[in-house]
Amino acid sequence: MSDRFKGIWSEFQENIRNLDEGASPREILDVILDWLRKYKEYFLRPPFSDYGFNRFITLDAPDYPVEISLMRGEELLFFKKLVFNQQGKDKESIARILRDTFEMLLVLEMDEKCANCGRDGLGVYLNEENAKLVYECKQCGIAKYTDGAKLDGGHYVFAKTVDLIKEKLI
Ligand SMILES: [Zn+2]
Repeated sequence: MSDRFKGIWSEFQENIRNLDEGASPREILDVILDWLRKYKEYFLRPPFSDYGFNRFITLDAPDYPVEISLMRGEELLFFKKLVFNQQGKDKESIARILRDTFEMLLVLEMDEKCANCGRDGLGVYLNEENAKLVYECKQCGIAKYTDGAKLDGGHYVFAKTVDLIKEKLI
């Protein structure tokens, strides 16, 4: 199985190599999703399942604010470098790279400073249970509601474009 995965990974590297340097975040997302779905049986088990890859396989991509993602230009070049540096053996690292890339493509980053660690930029998620938006720091993981209230449990998912518009964040 690991040998087979190496071939699948080589195919992904080729797809990413073929992405033009001016590719839009939506084009990048499509390339990754097409490949992931083609080989989805590999991504529904560890280590990929540990990183929630089922969320990406079943993703309704048009619902998310991918067009305003910062994944373009320099960030795309950086992603390409990460992908080319992997030989297809270290699935744990591959899972992390892809998970981080999905977050960058799907999660709106607000120009807010983290009160805990000082990092600039907080990701916006949705608490599915009460439909409230949540800011989360990528660096230290601290989270709070966008109105400043403390979190009170729930299930956090990627905020959709419609949720962000409703709260006037985009
Ligand atoms: Zn922080």
